[in-house]
Amino acid sequence: MSTPVVTVRGLIKKYHDTAVLQGVDLTLDRGEVLSIIGPSGSGKSTLLRCLNQLEEVDGGEIRHGDELLGIETVRGRLMRVREKDVVRQRRAFGMVFQHFNLFPHMTALQNVMEGPTQVRRMPQADARALALEELKRVGLAGHANHYPAELSGGQQQRVAIARALAMRPEIMLFDEPTSALDPELVDEVLDVIRGLAAEGMTMVIVTHEMSLAQEISDSVVVMDRGQVVEAGPPTQIFRAPRSERTRRFVAKLI
Ligand code: ADP
Ligand code: MG
Repeated sequence: MSTPVVTVRGLIKKYHDTAVLQGVDLTLDRGEVLSIIGPSGSGKSTLLRCLNQLEEVDGGEIRHGDELLGIETVRGRLMRVREKDVVRQRRAFGMVFQHFNLFPHMTALQNVMEGPTQVRRMPQADARALALEELKRVGLAGHANHYPAELSGGQQQRVAIARALAMRPEIMLFDEPTSALDPELVDEVLDVIRGLAAEGMTMVIVTHEMSLAQEISDSVVVMDRGQVVEAGPPTQIFRAPRSERTRRFVAKLI
């Protein structure tokens, strides 16, 4: 067995005195598509934010391959790793948020070029070629010079996916990528995600789209109140859940 791309062990995250992640374990293998489902407030976004090191964790560990992320334990004490390492490590993860978070004063092309030029220090011409390639990949080659306000929600989210892909991440993290969209715009975004799955991209997807989770996931993690209540292949989670909490949650969605 090769080392998982990501290993999470006993992860604890607190806000003030409340532990919103209470000892989460999960593993992600290369090329795996893992979906996270669960009620609102169960800690799904917090978990993704911890993976991408947008949050400092309070206990447990996250490994990227063999490398410990974010924190390290020195003689039993949690220490932050150096900022330089955090920046380097964070690049392994591409993140797509519910609300797109595009720069409103930049065109689609400029949004996608921003990471490659500012973070990867790529020359403008190379970054431009790369950005156009990524916009083509999400079906928006013809919209490169449009500003976010001139694009539909579905198009904006596809630009956000292209922007994440332009950083050549090893793992893509999606946090409810379609839940801010009008229903008729959901499919164009799901098609892009399906395409990435077909290409073998390693992905973690927090979603309420049960048909997507059933169709493309290799495994599904069910969270409730900061804990993983069940993890398994989609056939188990959706057709033969072992946990009563999973059964109740899934019954509400289908
Ligand atoms: P989900 O994505 O599953 O809906 P979240 O990870 O957003 O859940 O939230 C988990 C819990 O953590 C919720 O109770 C939420 O109110 C709380 N929470 C999230 N972010 C913060 C924050 N920045 N400060 C305080 N509490 C937070
Ligand atoms: Mg959330």
